[in-house]
Amino acid sequence: MGTHYRRVLLKVSGEALMGNMGYGIDPEVVKEIAEEVAEVVSTGVQTAIVVGGGNIFRGVKAASAGMDRATADYIGMIATVMNAMTLQDSLERIGVQTRVQTAISMQEVAEPYIRRRAIRHLEKGRVVIFGAGSGNPFFTTDTTAALRAAEIEAEVIFKATKVDGVYDADPHIYPDAKRYNSLTYGHVLAKDLRVMDSTAIALCKENNIPILIFDLTVRGNICRAVMGESIGTLVGG
Ligand code: UDP
Repeated sequence: MGTHYRRVLLKVSGEALMGNMGYGIDPEVVKEIAEEVAEVVSTGVQTAIVVGGGNIFRGVKAASAGMDRATADYIGMIATVMNAMTLQDSLERIGVQTRVQTAISMQEVAEPYIRRRAIRHLEKGRVVIFGAGSGNPFFTTDTTAALRAAEIEAEVIFKATKVDGVYDADPHIYPDAKRYNSLTYGHVLAKDLRVMDSTAIALCKENNIPILIFDLTVRGNICRAVMGESIGTLVGG
């Protein structure tokens, strides 16, 4: 199988791990994601993953209800570690070697984030799952994905979501909304399209990292994305 990429970064939002539930982690969804990642890894593509935490805790939401924002964000970051460990377990159960690295030290359960060590793991064919976001409040895991992708020199970010790309209007409200096949960073920023937050887009733009937004709920899409098939919406220069 001829793969298109050598090293990729997959961003899995907390919402994706939630499946159709209103909260938490759907083990069946995690299993499916793990199986697809296993397939990608078996083709020799080095795979890093950044997990979100919105299925458990979102800092902005707690802050709007009165909680101190930084505290709320730290809780959000810790929530992502639960997702990271769950995904790790699922991957290891099907024989994929993994390492979780966290941006907030939790040495009893995961390695600390060490860039060069992460790269070494990837070179050895291990999946590296980055937990605890960037380690900084006021940021998101999308921005973390952009940051880590730049640091590990990933060629592309795959943003797995529950929609099949970026539209010019909300397809749930406007049935004739048009899906973009490709977009420039500038267009996304200027039109304030909700692909990723603007910090993440700006970081990708500066470092020339393309972002493919695609629907994770369609089985096989992670592999299709990695094989370079034209699914979803590609954001680039
Ligand atoms: N978060 C943070 N700094 C980071 C990454 C995440 O403070 O670098 C916190 C923030 O409160 C956020 C929560 O962790 O709401 C969960 O992450 P995010 O909302 O990005 O998850 P997703 O939307 O991908 O599920």
